[in-house]
Amino acid sequence: MIEAANGTPLRLRLDSAALVANWRWLDAMSGPARCGAAVKANGYGLGATDVVTRLAEVGCGDFFVATWDEALALGDLPAGCSVSVLHGVRDEDMAIARDHHARPVINTLAQLTRWRATGRPCDVMVDTGMNRLGLAVGDVLGGALDGVEIVTLMSHLACADEDMSVNDRQRDAFAALAGRTRAMTMSLANSAGICLGTDFAFGLTRPGLALYGGLPRREGHGNLQQVAYPAAQVLQVRLVERGDSVGYGGDWTAQQRTRVAILNFGYADGYRRAFANVGTCLQGRCPVLGRVSMDLLAIDVTEVEVGEGDWVDIDYDLPAAATNTGLSQYELLTGLGSRSHRSWF
Ligand SMILES: *Cc1c(COP(=O)(O)O)cnc(C)c1O
Repeated sequence: MIEAANGTPLRLRLDSAALVANWRWLDAMSGPARCGAAVKANGYGLGATDVVTRLAEVGCGDFFVATWDEALALGDLPAGCSVSVLHGVRDEDMAIARDHHARPVINTLAQLTRWRATGRPCDVMVDTGMNRLGLAVGDVLGGALDGVEIVTLMSHLACADEDMSVNDRQRDAFAALAGRTRAMTMSLANSAGICLGTDFAFGLTRPGLALYGGLPRREGHGNLQQVAYPAAQVLQVRLVERGDSVGYGGDWTAQQRTRVAILNFGYADGYRRAFANVGTCLQGRCPVLGRVSMDLLAIDVTEVEVGEGDWVDIDYDLPAAATNTGLSQYELLTGLGSRSHRSWF
């Protein structure tokens, strides 16, 4: 249990030391390559500005967002830091992008034409087999980037979280572009790619998930720490008699007299319905009972001293939560915190 916050009845406690330790491990795993940080989707839901501040302090200088809105939301960066906009630059973005310090990551020939007119440097994404964003390798080898001032040439791994031969094929296709453009740096690996080894690191890595306590691959086990800890306040405690049920659909029925606490936390706060009957609070001592509501959650507090107004820690170890719910660690993380009061410690 933790002491109450003012205002909102739910909060997301965020561990600065864990965030920094995770980055340091990823930095070490990146070998001689620099280690950056993906802070798109508002720092995977944790607050992009707070993440940037903490990581810049320990030497992280390369940040990645998805859109220009996200770049704008970051405001001025700490000295020596840069931010890249992964989705590139649309016509609609040009008015802002032209004079902004962020660099677009050029993905298409149309984006390239648009950006060339500014004469400013950019990053470039090359597709090496994921078939998502990026220029074709053939376009790059055919000279499409001739004369373009490229800071970082990047590609993205489709299957780095699994042991698949496509990883080596993507790495080799990307390595073959070395020296074929004017790029100062090459970058391939996300969190899972870093775990594949320094062969995949090139000059710069781009972890996201693992910074925030996600476990991309088994190599991270024991090295990556939980960062985000949700907690919610108890709104009501009740005794439910044997045979009575709890919540929508009456999905859970008491087998014996049970003390039930109702928490201010639900799927609108990112606590997905897949936690019904499998989620827990207070280190496994309080199982979730029945369905998750939009704003409320029922838990069994028969065995713990919890009363109205107390705060309860919701178990949210990402790898375990993903196993229990069948949801991805990314979904579990990015949905958190929309209504929570975020507090870093
Ligand atoms: C999101 C993203 C990353 C970070 O990926 P994680 O799997 O969260 O480490 C890196 N590169 C690109 C291009 C991305 O879109």
